[in-house]
Amino acid sequence: MFLAEIIGVGDELLYGETVDTNTAEIAVSLQPYAVGVRRTLRVADNLETLAQEVRQAWEKARLVVLSGGLGPTPDDITREAIAAALGEEMQPDPQVLEWLEKLFEARGWKMPEANRKQALKIPSATWIANPRGTAPGWWIRREDKDLICLPGPPAEWRPMWAEVLPRLGLPQKSYKQVAFKTFGLGESRIVELLGELFRRNGAVEVGTYAKMDGVAVVVRGEPGPVEALAAQIRPLLGEAVWGQEGDTLPALALRLLEGRKASLATLESMTGGVLGALLTGVPGASQSYLGGLVPYSPAAKSQLPIPPEVAAQHGMISSAFAEAMAVAARGMLGATYALSTTGVAGPEELEGQPVGTLFVGLASPEGVKCRHFRLPGAGREMLRQRAAHAALAFLVGELR
Ligand code: ATP
Ligand code: MG
Repeated sequence: MFLAEIIGVGDELLYGETVDTNTAEIAVSLQPYAVGVRRTLRVADNLETLAQEVRQAWEKARLVVLSGGLGPTPDDITREAIAAALGEEMQPDPQVLEWLEKLFEARGWKMPEANRKQALKIPSATWIANPRGTAPGWWIRREDKDLICLPGPPAEWRPMWAEVLPRLGLPQKSYKQVAFKTFGLGESRIVELLGELFRRNGAVEVGTYAKMDGVAVVVRGEPGPVEALAAQIRPLLGEAVWGQEGDTLPALALRLLEGRKASLATLESMTGGVLGALLTGVPGASQSYLGGLVPYSPAAKSQLPIPPEVAAQHGMISSAFAEAMAVAARGMLGATYALSTTGVAGPEELEGQPVGTLFVGLASPEGVKCRHFRLPGAGREMLRQRAAHAALAFLVGELR
């Protein structure tokens, strides 16, 4: 078995201040390969401890990947630790030193002395260029083993790892993953729906992952069996499926709108702008998303072109009011579609409605509809996020 170890370096990872997502992300990137991740660990900025762990990892694994501790400060000791573990001496590389000096010059600064150490390298390492920072990485290949050392910040190491990974010549695994992204079904309901198809061992494995945008049902394993099982599972999930691997609700909603040359407006109460934020987080959103309104107080809502009887008769947390909001937004912004949200984010119930209540209005050229959700979850932030995703799931369901 081709074994790998992944090490995150930094005191902050042990204090729990920074959650070590690097090792997990690197482990995920190894999934398509026939590589067994034998151990992942977090090690303090301590020269002796790290050197010892690197030595052990290098002894037992064919691939060792480290991230963090390549900065210029004295607590950044990853380079020294690797040099010690492999019994090599570091030397300055004049070319990298010059590159660093130029980098600082371009920002109008003189390079601080502390950064000189980022140009140090052991003879058996080659550089991995860092296009986004001052810490280049090391790639050490000895006999049939590789050690890769990357900086800590994800924005820096991701492009570097993307360069190196395919060049490592790792053994391929025949592996496939299919994901169905669903909204409106709980995990236990999905387990029930899938029955004996919910397999956890063998050539193919099924998993459910609850996220803000619903529950993803993932089928992974050998390509043939994965495709066969996914084809059986798909119809059982029915209407709840809104997308696949890589899809996000706001991007998908905007893509569907664009495909219809249609525009969207929003009028948010419960979500307080979260819906607009999700939509405007997608590049090019203005193609289809015209914008939105966030009237929050009853006084502000009373300014909307909605007949006062609607609120008087049904309350503002009602399907009638959600529909009236959607119609108002569609008219005010001149959009093809409009979404509205009204509900209870908590912590107290409102108008006799429990926390987690959500009404989403959807106005379109065909008329207006409403969907009533009872969202699970605790805390305003989670509920507002869920509510915004629920509104988008409703829209996506109508547009496809
Ligand atoms: P720099 O030149 O920025 O100092 P570095 O290689 O020394 O680079 P670190 O100082 O270890 O990197 O980490 C810098 C930042 O990168 C951390 O504050 C943290 O935000 C992020 N980071 C580091 N390690 C991890 C990790 N294992 N998981 C997630 N984020 C991390
Ligand atoms: Mg650092």
